[in-house]
Amino acid sequence: MSDCIFCKISQHEIPAKVVQESEEAISFLDIHPLAPGHTVVIPKSHVSTVTALSGEAVGPFFLDVKRVTYIIDAALKPDGFNIGWNHGEAGGQAVGHLHVHIIPRWKGDGGGSMHSIVHNPPKEDLDMIYEKLKAIA
Ligand code: 5GP
Ligand code: ZN
Repeated sequence: MSDCIFCKISQHEIPAKVVQESEEAISFLDIHPLAPGHTVVIPKSHVSTVTALSGEAVGPFFLDVKRVTYIIDAALKPDGFNIGWNHGEAGGQAVGHLHVHIIPRWKGDGGGSMHSIVHNPPKEDLDMIYEKLKAIA
């Protein structure tokens, strides 16, 4: 996609600190790191979200997520990680090219867990939501 900054990085048209590159994915340091070693992994071909990623591409892509987590773990020895992605505008996605954030964590770094992202418990009971999901699954 011609106006996508991450496509430009994947095509080496603009510079990035590339940590790992494979046929399917490229991983580079986030320009505004939330923690030392904060890296994003993107598929080389433009898809906006994980639901648009082809079934065949999912495995190789997440293999690179695993590889890069290993690299950061070995190099920086954090105590843990938050690994995930913002999906869609409401989920906080600013760059419309799928990217998995790998954020190293250290004990006492002041950060929260996945549970601190949102507090919007459902008004419907769990069974109603479950039935809606099972109707599609
Ligand atoms: P999002 O909010 O879309 O999940 O995250 C986008 C991430 O991409 C942000 O953490 C931001 O710092 C990073 N980012 C945006 N533009 C660039 C860039 O040109 N180079 C690099 N290395 N990271 C970028
Ligand atoms: Zn793109």
